[in-house]
Amino acid sequence: MPATHDLHSHSLASDGTLAPAGLVQAAQTAGIGVLALTDHDTTDGIAAASAAAHAAGLRLVPGVEISVTWQAQTIHVLGLGIDTGNAALQAGLAQLCAFRDWRAEEIGRRLARAGIDGAWAGARALAQGRIVSRTHFAQHLVGQGHAASVRDVFRHFLVNGKPGYVSCQWAELEPALDWIRSAGGMAVIAHPARYRLTASRLRRLVGEFRELGGAGMEVVSGSHTRDNIRAMAAVCRNERMLASSGSDYHGPDNCWIRLGELPALPAGCIPVWESEQWPVQ
Ligand code: AMP
Ligand code: MN
Ligand code: MN
Ligand code: MN
Repeated sequence: MPATHDLHSHSLASDGTLAPAGLVQAAQTAGIGVLALTDHDTTDGIAAASAAAHAAGLRLVPGVEISVTWQAQTIHVLGLGIDTGNAALQAGLAQLCAFRDWRAEEIGRRLARAGIDGAWAGARALAQGRIVSRTHFAQHLVGQGHAASVRDVFRHFLVNGKPGYVSCQWAELEPALDWIRSAGGMAVIAHPARYRLTASRLRRLVGEFRELGGAGMEVVSGSHTRDNIRAMAAVCRNERMLASSGSDYHGPDNCWIRLGELPALPAGCIPVWESEQWPVQ
C-alpha cells in the first residue's frame, strides 16, 4: 500500500500548537507516511521536524506556506520539497517576517484604540517562533475573555471592517514562485476553495500560477467540503494541474481537523507525489 500523504501542516514555528517533533509524532500515530511541514512564511521548524521524522521512520517534506497578495486578495502558496538553505527563499521569507512584525504592532495599536490594551504583547508571548500570526491575537483575546472562540475573534475583530483589521501587502505571486523554484521546490496553491473566487477568477489565478511555473493545487484540504473537493478536482483536471492533499493541521485544539483522516484524491487527479518533478526521494 502506498504511504499516506499529508502535505500541509503547522507547528509552533508559526501558528500551530505542537512543537515540530510533537507534530511528527502525532503524524506517525495517525499512520501518515509522508508529512509536509508548511509553516507560514518560515522554515524554522524544518530541522527539528526532519530529525524527528528520521528517528520515527516517516518521510518529512520540507515545506513552507507563503503569504501572497494576488489582485488585492490574500492567497497562500505552498512550496514543497524546498532547500531551506536557499538564500533567495530565505531573503523573501525575511521580508515577509519583517512585514508581519510591523503588522502585529499595528494590529495591537488598532485594538488599543478600540479599548483592548496589551494585545500585541499578549500575542507575542503566545508566538513561540519567529512569526506572529493573527491566530496568536485570537488566542490571546479568547484567553482575556473578549470572545468565546478563535473563530469569533476573527469574525468580530480581525477581518476587513473590524477594529483590529490591517490590510496586507504580502509577496507578489511571481517572486514567491521564483523563491520556491530557486529552492528546488514545487509550488502548490493552498486551499483554493477558501478564497471564494468566482469560477472565472479562479481559472485566471490557476492559469497565471501555471504560466509562472506553479505546478499544482490542493484538491483535498482540511478546509474543503466534499463539494469543494469535487469542484477543485474539476478545475485541477481542466487546467492540467497536479493535485495535492493536506490537512492544514494546526494542532489538537482544533477538533474538526484531524491528522490522517483525509479523503482520497478524486479519480483523474494526478497527485503531486507521482509527478516526475516531485523533489522528494
Ligand atoms: P495571518 O497569516 O497571520 O493573517 O493568519 C492567518 C491564519 O489565521 C490562517 O492560517 C489560519 O490559521 C487562521 N485563520 C484565518 N481565518 C480564520 C478563522 N475565520 N477562524 C480561525 N482561524 C482562522
Ligand atoms: Mn494558520
Ligand atoms: Mn493557509
Ligand atoms: Mn496552512
